[in-house]
Amino acid sequence: SLQQDFREASSASAEWEARGRVVMPIASSRAIAFHDPYPLTVTRAEGSFLWDADGQRYIDLASNMYSLVHGNAFPPVVQAAAAQLAQGSAWPANNTAQIELAEELVARLPAVEKVLFCNSGTEAFSLALNIARGQTGRHRFLMAQGGYHGTMWDTNLGGRAAPGPVHFSAPYGDTAAFLSVIEQHGDEIAAVFLEPVLGSGGFALPPAGFLRAVYEAARATGIVFVLDEVISFRLAFNGAQGALDFAPDLVMLGKVIGGGFPVGGVGGRAELLAVVDPAAPRALASGTFSGNPVTMAAGLASVRALTPAAIAHIDRLAQLLEAGLQAEAAAKSLPLHTRRVGSMLGLFFYDPGQAPVFAASRPDAAFTQELHLAMLLEGLFPLPRCAMTTTTVMTAPLIAEVVQRFGRALARVGSLVP
Ligand code: PMP
Repeated sequence: SLQQDFREASSASAEWEARGRVVMPIASSRAIAFHDPYPLTVTRAEGSFLWDADGQRYIDLASNMYSLVHGNAFPPVVQAAAAQLAQGSAWPANNTAQIELAEELVARLPAVEKVLFCNSGTEAFSLALNIARGQTGRHRFLMAQGGYHGTMWDTNLGGRAAPGPVHFSAPYGDTAAFLSVIEQHGDEIAAVFLEPVLGSGGFALPPAGFLRAVYEAARATGIVFVLDEVISFRLAFNGAQGALDFAPDLVMLGKVIGGGFPVGGVGGRAELLAVVDPAAPRALASGTFSGNPVTMAAGLASVRALTPAAIAHIDRLAQLLEAGLQAEAAAKSLPLHTRRVGSMLGLFFYDPGQAPVFAASRPDAAFTQELHLAMLLEGLFPLPRCAMTTTTVMTAPLIAEVVQRFGRALARVGSLVP
């Protein structure tokens, strides 16, 4: 079976898994990277490739969950980080790199007049919520079912979907449902959080006008509108907000703005971010490692290299990838549905329409789990459920190789009907 083949091919990872289980609940700190029978242990990465503890090479199609837009160990990022590291890894004072990165982001993102840094998208969520609470004096927040803004509250990775003491939710893309929650509970809600396109929710796009309608209702009720650009920053030179010509109150940032180091950020209107001013604080922005100089130097190199030409390149490669995978599936009469947003590609072996995709309840979950193992066995390293992304250091011949290997992976699960 595929599981047996996988175990035989990855015995060193199995040993690390067993050893890790003794001292860690899932031998790892990341549920998202976990899969049956165990995730591989990676020991090295460079450019488009990862190597596991058994020394096997994989084409990296995960880019650490969309955060390494220039691939692994991208030379400008390595140089910037190494130069900073040699001067010390963290200081209890200001540093130049964070101001330069802030300048770069303010110049690029129309809704961002001022920006603050933290250490993850999850922290960006907490910071944005605290800013909104400081501004409004309200406590609760509203987000989409199918949305993901970090581990604080999760509606689609198997977490809690029901309303809680601080939380309201409504289906992503359902304008009427959002307006109804705002109408009924607006005076309790500090912030509404929305992604411009669902990332973890399977690249679902909202109907035209959804974001704007929720924004208008939020504005009329004094709710702070937070656009989560943690994933979507890579989609356009000015972020999704630029592409959509849409200016939210606050913006969450993360992933590629840290060049592969842990990062988060909150940007937005100057008057809103002013609530963290220690002279008259209504919210606290701090953190031992927030605005860390190594992260900021790496992030600056990463953001500067993400030019319009670089974005066009990753989008074109993802288009090639999508067409190639479609052809492989068609040749095997498999019903492959794809959703591509720029450089990110989701695969579905059923028709998801435009609905958000809830990982735990996908009808093709068993098939995509098998295909995931088959892809690993063929030297491809996608995200769980076989989603993929391209990077600026990939080439068309590499994509052709991915497509070939994908065809061989499909043949390995050929006996399973999706
Ligand atoms: N928001 C979005 C849209 C995300 O995709 C993610 C991470 N996948 C986060 C927030 C959380 O970021 P982090 O994993 O850095 O906490």
